[in-house]
Amino acid sequence: MLLTYKFRLKDGTRREELKTLAGNVNFVWNFSNEIIRRRWKDSRFYTSKNDLHVLTKGSSKLLEINSQTIQAVAYECLLRVQKAKKSIRFRTGKKNLGWIPFNGQTVKFHSGYIDCNGYRFRLWQHRQLPEGYQIKTGSFSEDSRGRWYVNLTCEISDENWFQEPASFGSEIGIDPGMKTVMTTSDGHAYERNNITKQYAEKLAKAQRHRKKRQTKKINAKIKNSRQDWNHKRSFELARQYQTIFFGNASSGKLAKTRMAKGVHDAAWHQIKTFLSYKSLRRGGRLLEINERNSTVTCSVCLQKTGPCGLSGLGIREWSCPCGAVHDRDVNAATNILRLGRETLSLGRIA
Ligand SMILES: [Zn+2]
Repeated sequence: MLLTYKFRLKDGTRREELKTLAGNVNFVWNFSNEIIRRRWKDSRFYTSKNDLHVLTKGSSKLLEINSQTIQAVAYECLLRVQKAKKSIRFRTGKKNLGWIPFNGQTVKFHSGYIDCNGYRFRLWQHRQLPEGYQIKTGSFSEDSRGRWYVNLTCEISDENWFQEPASFGSEIGIDPGMKTVMTTSDGHAYERNNITKQYAEKLAKAQRHRKKRQTKKINAKIKNSRQDWNHKRSFELARQYQTIFFGNASSGKLAKTRMAKGVHDAAWHQIKTFLSYKSLRRGGRLLEINERNSTVTCSVCLQKTGPCGLSGLGIREWSCPCGAVHDRDVNAATNILRLGRETLSLGRIA
């Protein structure tokens, strides 16, 4: 199984070298791009991987990056062109964040530092790599704040990959929402401070004064704290429940509000990704459930007696003629759990 680890480099002393290397990577990229472009224009053929290899041969010493990296960059460029089916942009140090790919065999990882290309890069090692890992590929990458990271894609053994499973047969339904990010069928509401709102004033101020660095810093903070929250919550859920039924946000009540579908998808995309792989590591799974009618259906008598339409969005609690009193979100999550179980028993999801 492959896992990617990301460590921040102590880049203070190495930033210039990294920048130079990233510039050379861009050079290889642009060179390959140009070759592929011309060849296509002249003959309607894509340059082969081998041709690129021959054409870039011998540039390793001059560019101070090893030949595997050069090949990796040239090949990646070719793949991108083929995928885009049209010409792609040239990379520049101004427009693109630094990126230096490498082959796993060309680096040596030690605790606290990594040797690559004859350089030693020290890093903050916030976690240990599992025993018997093997670095397959990796890269150095820069973020918008100019910080450098090393990303290592490692092959690890199954026993290190699998984690303790959640108790057998445990299931939960999750109703995604705007204010309460997630509500579970067992009545737990996961709320998060509105991070964007929290930093809105600061951000506006920084932007008004054209403070670029500050703006980037605040944006990175927002992104980090959201990611951190998503990691923690998905960890808790994946550890407790074997099967997680997640309401498909864009098909349900939220799609009726003014916010675009894309916004919903973006908001839950990360949390779903985290939940999905964290469950897999514990032998569980995440299933998306179409949540249509989940808010208006009473989870006790299954009649559509709940508040509906845009006017119903403000109503948090309601009671059904059958006598059941519902919290809107918990009721929806309960319905998602029920729908999920039905779907599973019908074998609609493999
Ligand atoms: Zn009812």
